[in-house]
Amino acid sequence: MRMKEERLLIADYGRKMSAMGLSQGTAGNISVYDAAAGLMAITPSGVNYFDIQPEDIVIQDLDGNVVEGARKPSSEAGLHAGFYKAYSGIGCGAVVHTHSNYATTLACMGEPIRAVHYSISGAGTCEVPLCGYETFGTPELAEKAVAACKGSRAVLLANHGLVAFGVNLEKAFSLAVSLENIARIQWQCLCTGRMNVLTKEQMDKVLLRLQTYGQKPAADGSQNAY
Ligand code: 13P
Ligand code: ZN
Repeated sequence: MRMKEERLLIADYGRKMSAMGLSQGTAGNISVYDAAAGLMAITPSGVNYFDIQPEDIVIQDLDGNVVEGARKPSSEAGLHAGFYKAYSGIGCGAVVHTHSNYATTLACMGEPIRAVHYSISGAGTCEVPLCGYETFGTPELAEKAVAACKGSRAVLLANHGLVAFGVNLEKAFSLAVSLENIARIQWQCLCTGRMNVLTKEQMDKVLLRLQTYGQKPAADGSQNAY
């Protein structure tokens, strides 16, 4: 069986994604990329996360050819592949897509996630951009999302949800969790009609400080944050 460890990990994080309320039912999808083999492991389409077993994970190349797996891959497999094609060179080793509540609320309002809290720096940017609406599972959505994500490790999909990536699944998932939390804070600020957004200068200082945050510099070159 190919990518056995990744299959286990994806099934595990899928359950976590559902249990934490980041996605409901079969919404959202998760993948991990093996750059050396040019293969990604991705969740099957339309299967409840609590039912997904490692053997349900589909292995395919970035052109959509299934190499192993009896299940139909996620309808967003093209979007995940697009992220690896564009960003594996800058540390995209795993992609998490959610329909988490507050991130999706902002995406439905046409609002990017702003620097209302300094921890947006985990996305490597001062603002998580929003890409224009396209139908789920289409090459058009994949193209727009990948292009809009330039300079960020995450992007909001209008009227749909969030995509976050990281060097590994742990990082991609924790970024999705953190951005959901920031989106909630932003929504709460918007409800009060009062919101202070950090300036670029303030955020530049945060991004600099983040390079030495934590116990030691990340040996794998990953973002050393949250
Ligand atoms: P899949 O079940 O095909 O992964 O689709 C869920 C989804 O979130 C589509 O955008
Ligand atoms: Zn979706």
